[in-house]
Amino acid sequence: MQQLVILGATGSIGQSTLKVAAEHPERFAVLALTAHRSVNAMLQLCLRFQPRFAVMSDHTAALELQQRLQAVQSNTEVLAGEQALCDIAAHPDADMVMAAIVGAAGLLPTLAAVKAAKTVLLANKEALVMAGAFFMQQVRQSGARLLPIDSEHNAIFQCLPATLQQAVCKHQLHADSLQQQSISKIILTASGGPFLQKPLDEFAQITPAQAVAHPNWDMGQKISVDSATMMNKGLELIEAHWLFQCPVEQIEVVIHPQSVIHSMVQYQDGSVIAQLGQPDMCTPIAYAMAYPERVRTQVPPLDFSTLTALTFSKAEQARFPNLYLAIDACRYGQAATTALNAANEVAVAAFLAGRLRFDQIALVNADVLEQLATAQATELEAILALDQQARKATEQFIIRQLA
Ligand code: NAD
Ligand code: MG
Repeated sequence: MQQLVILGATGSIGQSTLKVAAEHPERFAVLALTAHRSVNAMLQLCLRFQPRFAVMSDHTAALELQQRLQAVQSNTEVLAGEQALCDIAAHPDADMVMAAIVGAAGLLPTLAAVKAAKTVLLANKEALVMAGAFFMQQVRQSGARLLPIDSEHNAIFQCLPATLQQAVCKHQLHADSLQQQSISKIILTASGGPFLQKPLDEFAQITPAQAVAHPNWDMGQKISVDSATMMNKGLELIEAHWLFQCPVEQIEVVIHPQSVIHSMVQYQDGSVIAQLGQPDMCTPIAYAMAYPERVRTQVPPLDFSTLTALTFSKAEQARFPNLYLAIDACRYGQAATTALNAANEVAVAAFLAGRLRFDQIALVNADVLEQLATAQATELEAILALDQQARKATEQFIIRQLA
């Protein structure tokens, strides 16, 4: 029986993880669930899954949850605060930790799970974008087992030879690992989001409601906006760079609006291996949770008689400038991706709050990237300081833009 901790249990990935766990009660038990502020959602999850621990990062929310759980004589123990998130991720009884907090807030709890040598299921791509080199070094040192949840990276993982999969999990890759296995390229597929066909002169009027309405995937708000700007694919390119030790030049982004092929690996003999499936995160989550076995999910099988066309195109720079900023940042190195990630989080939050136009997200990101691209940050403290510096620079730029 695997004891499961879900960081970000009330979110989209958290819910899908619980769905998979509930289908296989003989394999998975829920040790702990965490959330930020959503007391109602957490209360429902606690009543249904009866975890030993529930952690709210917000103290007021934790207090309210505790009172409401006590009122129904629940045995779940409520903990509060950021340190409690890290402690629960490293709990001695935990076997498997789903890292599904959104944004930079996920870095420290995810690192705590890595340092405690857990099996870490990584959905929180921002942790790798923010601190890829440091993070992967910790995976190698601690003996943790890292499995990618992002559908593209999970697909790529599935398309790799078994020996290379083992090396990815333990981060025992070196610069020539892909070459030695005759891999020539990693191909990341992207849906192109809701604005793939929208005239460019209408981008300034795009509303948050339009931006979060993804045509294929049902996801949290931040990643939905990132998908609409294609920053999500940029963050994923950086994620792939670290996970698979792959130079940027060997990663190709291809728009594939149907989201049936989740990504591909091209080999030097001309073969391309792809992973296909419905756009439902339960598939990659179940794959990682049961790895190296496979388990049943409720995801309906692909029906090839209704799949009329799989199409592909290139992502235009004028339409998706954020993707190209991320590629530039990845070339610059760790500090540039830390700064870009922080800028983008602040810019997306400002867009969702109605303080910034959709087309201004890339302007803000470009400005902050230019300011901080050549900064240095290798150790954790410097990375966290740079993240804060980039957030401040972003806020200042937004205020200037609006003035
Ligand atoms: P979401 O917004 O639906 O959920 C986020 C979760 O994190 C919630 O449980 C929330 O309570 C918690 N949280 C938010 N801010 C927090 C903070 N400051 N401290 C502690 N907890 C906090 O997000 P999501 O769509 O589930 O995405 C989660 C992560 O998985 C993101 O990094 C995203 O990029 C990645 N991801 C998501 C999908 C998807 O289909 N949703 C696919 C691939 C990768
Ligand atoms: Mg993805």
